[in-house]
Amino acid sequence: MNLLNPNIVSEYKSNSQKARVMTEFWTWENIFCPSCWSAICHYNNNKPVADFYCDSCNEDYELKSWKSLWTKIADWAYDTMISRLQDYNNPNFFFLNYKINHQITNFVVIPKHYFTPEIIEKRKPLLETAKRAWWVWCNVLLSWIPESWKIFYIKNWENRDKNDVLNDWNKTLFLREKKLESKGWILDIMKCIEMLKKKEFTLQEVYNFEPILKQKYPNNNFIKDKIRQQLQFLRDKEYLEFVSNGKYRVL
Ligand SMILES: [Zn+2]
Repeated sequence: MNLLNPNIVSEYKSNSQKARVMTEFWTWENIFCPSCWSAICHYNNNKPVADFYCDSCNEDYELKSWKSLWTKIADWAYDTMISRLQDYNNPNFFFLNYKINHQITNFVVIPKHYFTPEIIEKRKPLLETAKRAWWVWCNVLLSWIPESWKIFYIKNWENRDKNDVLNDWNKTLFLREKKLESKGWILDIMKCIEMLKKKEFTLQEVYNFEPILKQKYPNNNFIKDKIRQQLQFLRDKEYLEFVSNGKYRVL
């Protein structure tokens, strides 16, 4: 069973501090680097951009944890978050979800290449009387992120096989080659495929998303060409395969 240990935080007073220490400690003890299997290391506190790193492959990870359902999570400054998306060194994200009895429900890593400005929601500025009145915070819209982009270590209390985690991680690394501007299309098409909720699909089924894509890209008059181009790219990167005339399968 995956349990946080409340005994290690008995001397802390604030609940948020308790939660941070418990979840960081558990992660450090139990989670391996999804990129290379190594144990992960903890940064000293006060490091602004990440909580953990891997000293074999240099990936960075930031941990966010919470008790409620995960539709969105808050607590980043908006401008910082947006500028970090452009930065090659931004961290990947670990999300830890637990119950009041300290049992861990889900543990997920989301690779940094899935983070685009779209999933960052700007919040209303804080009231002037608030301690950090000039800050504009943001939410990360987890509900926007398709299920298949979340690489689960623990899903609904169950541990997943380590090899599955590593395979999932490697499968989409090709997205890192893409710049933020050109990544939009490929992520949109991947999201359309995800919405079909099946392994095999036809070109026509992806074409059916044309009106939605047209809303997003009103100046593009070649949506169908663009769809085919992205499918070709995904095939070249072995994310999917071409089965027969107009039929594709997700690998
Ligand atoms: Zn590593």
